[in-house]
Amino acid sequence: MLPDGSEVRVEGQRVPWAPPGYVVIQGDILVPQSPTPPSTLAPQGLAQDPVVWGRLWPNGVVPYVLDPGLSADQRARIQEAIAHIHEKTSIRLVERSDQPDYVRFISDGRPESCWSYLGRIGGPQDLDVHCGQNGVPPVGTVVHEILHALGFLHEQSRADRDEYVEILWENIQEEYWPQFAKIGGKGKLYHAYDYDSVMHYGAKAFSKNGNYTILPKNGIPPERIGQRQGLSPGDIESVRLYYTTPLVRLRWWFHQTTFTGSYSFPQEVLNVGAVDARLEGVILEGRWLEGATPQTAEIPAGGSATLQFQAKPCPFLGFQAETVGLRVQGGETYQITYTRACYRYPDALTLLRLEPAGRETLLLTFAEWTWAKRYALEGTVNGTLIPLPYSELSSQRAQPLYTALLRLEGRAGQEVCLQITPLDSSATNPTPATACARVPE
Ligand SMILES: [Zn+2]
Repeated sequence: MLPDGSEVRVEGQRVPWAPPGYVVIQGDILVPQSPTPPSTLAPQGLAQDPVVWGRLWPNGVVPYVLDPGLSADQRARIQEAIAHIHEKTSIRLVERSDQPDYVRFISDGRPESCWSYLGRIGGPQDLDVHCGQNGVPPVGTVVHEILHALGFLHEQSRADRDEYVEILWENIQEEYWPQFAKIGGKGKLYHAYDYDSVMHYGAKAFSKNGNYTILPKNGIPPERIGQRQGLSPGDIESVRLYYTTPLVRLRWWFHQTTFTGSYSFPQEVLNVGAVDARLEGVILEGRWLEGATPQTAEIPAGGSATLQFQAKPCPFLGFQAETVGLRVQGGETYQITYTRACYRYPDALTLLRLEPAGRETLLLTFAEWTWAKRYALEGTVNGTLIPLPYSELSSQRAQPLYTALLRLEGRAGQEVCLQITPLDSSATNPTPATACARVPE
């Protein structure tokens, strides 16, 4: 989920130069890998701080350092890009003194693209400026990468892009198809589609034959897209909106309990935006939560606050979902589905949920309370067994909640049922669980 609350699912690529735990999306953006790919279970088991993508920089201040390996020409381009951003926006890149989170401009020596992490990841984060002629990029490319570090994705990856551009898949090298996926829920916060954006791909990006890969609609000439001169009026407005809108989110999205009566528990609200936020109210559906009391309404940029939730008794053993909305003064209401698992220890209960997670891929979630570390997996279509990419899951440490991705090639459109059985449960007769879902195209 992005700071503006839009949900994003993408296929990342593991590349040798990305640090462990990160994958590349769209050619030049590094994001955390989550959940872990097939055959291993997600280490985040309990789902603390799930996929926090692209946190903003508090008050729009981005501390930075220049790596000693940068050439004089690269340094000059970085300074031009910074001056351009300072002239057009209220973002301030400042030389780092002792700030814990900062951007380190580097030159990785690879001839391919420049790259950046998405948003503020915490701690030092590299931003590569080795690309273009002789490893020196145009100033607009440096601006483009800094905008990734500020939390912006590519313009043509917006969810609504098909109204504005046509993707000519037959001209794109197949291994680059994932880079043309639609990912943003709203794209840039609330802003109209911008052909002139410095975040837009060029019309021949990743072409395999020299022909166009992206054609603008509405009579826009192809040459217009993909400029790397600098920020467009739309980019400037997007930066202003994103960096002046309060944005909050809940740290957790999953909760488990053995309570049989009503109870209450604390929950952390994070301010992931650039400005201080004032919490005006919490909107609940009342399915399993019946109240929420904030300890304080004021949450400073980059900070957090505690919310006390009042929960209803568990009506049955299993998962329950609740939509929680956080209303923030001057901002959009942030919504998240909050799931509770009710269980009774030490019953041998395995809960399983199966849901679409991108092309030919399902996300499986299950919970188990007898500290099993190995599970057998069986898949069927219309009652007939099908081969799975892996038939056993294992984890180093036992934990109640697990997630894993299941890629089912050639099964698009089919209804697949999955059965999962603990193999080394401490309980005798562990209960298998089943769930079914349609494999997305
Ligand atoms: Zn980019």
